[in-house]
Amino acid sequence: MMCGSPRPLWLWFHKILCAGLMLGIMMPVADAQSRWAIEESYKLLPEASPSLRQYTNLHYALYAASLAWLFGGLALAVRARWAPRALARWRGIPVWLQAIAVYAALMIGLSIWMIPVRLADWWIERAYHLSTTSPRQWLIDQGLALALGCLWAPLLPIALHFVRRSPRWWWLHFGMALAPIGLFMIVVYPVLIDPMFNRFVPLADRQLRKELVTLSNRAGVDEPTVLVSDASRRTKKGNAFVVGIGPTHRIILWNTLLMYYTEPEIKAIIAHELGHYVRLHLWRGFVLQTVGGILIMAALAWVMKKTVDRHGPALGIKGIADPGAIPLALLLIELLLLLQMPLASAVSRGMEREADAYGLQLYRNGRAAASAYARMSTQDYGDPDPPGWAVFWLHTHPSLRERVARALDYDRRNARSD
Ligand SMILES: [Zn+2]
Repeated sequence: MMCGSPRPLWLWFHKILCAGLMLGIMMPVADAQSRWAIEESYKLLPEASPSLRQYTNLHYALYAASLAWLFGGLALAVRARWAPRALARWRGIPVWLQAIAVYAALMIGLSIWMIPVRLADWWIERAYHLSTTSPRQWLIDQGLALALGCLWAPLLPIALHFVRRSPRWWWLHFGMALAPIGLFMIVVYPVLIDPMFNRFVPLADRQLRKELVTLSNRAGVDEPTVLVSDASRRTKKGNAFVVGIGPTHRIILWNTLLMYYTEPEIKAIIAHELGHYVRLHLWRGFVLQTVGGILIMAALAWVMKKTVDRHGPALGIKGIADPGAIPLALLLIELLLLLQMPLASAVSRGMEREADAYGLQLYRNGRAAASAYARMSTQDYGDPDPPGWAVFWLHTHPSLRERVARALDYDRRNARSD
């Protein structure tokens, strides 16, 4: 057991993290906002109130607790040899069905295990009057999330098939097989999955619709499909998205945006969303996710092999092609996903900055954009000045302070050049 000198796992993870940091640094970096814009931003976007600070701190604490709870639960399942014990009782069943059964049972177990965390999150959102989710809706959402989680079960036999066929290169074959599935999901998600959670109707406000179409035409997008979702069933927070590719491409406005945001603010937000579309962020995201997925599979293959070689007998796992290894694989995937978050967040922030800049150039109304970002703090309880570690690890968007200041800077520069 002590022979050889396998590189400790932490050193390996450290390498990934350093590579991630380097790539994160190379992402499009924010051009510094002027001191004037930063100072001016406080008029629109004051510092966080004690209540907002408390809300964000509660969320950070809950996030840390949820990670500990998730890893604790998965580690318990692995240590207790839950899957090998269950499989010993299901010996007559074909291996592919064993894999599906282990995964589905694990999903159900995890859903139940994570209930306290999800309840706590719901409680916080309700305590701050942000959630409008009824207990019935909450239960339905949990059921839907579990059903969606189980939808991925057929991937397990596919992965095991690749492991058996090519123990050295299975991660590459499986990672590549995930690409068309990922693309298919991006295309069908808006028409198959989204309607399970929300109802979508065409934007009724004709005047606003006309103006959004004009904005879209200016961006070179003909006949945009603009739909409104009934997000107010769950939250008071506002949001908008560009989703789908090709025939399912559409802009989704949450109805909360129409309720709580002014018309110029909505137009500024849509201009930002059009930036995602015109700059091909969905496609770029797809390519990055595919490459990232293959890299994570490569890392998983390496760590799985080392872990199973060393601890397999103690954990009742016969090899990496054993369905009994699925809980361990899930634990390691969660760990790898956690470690890649700084890089994924940095890439996302780069794209969001790009969409912000495009939106400003398209709508040419920095004041409206700044006002929209400021409202994300008052209406959605967004932290204007999140701590550096949180931005580094978790934030997919630049801070609201940065966004407001950049929008104000745009207006000032534009006024000068005009
Ligand atoms: Zn965006």
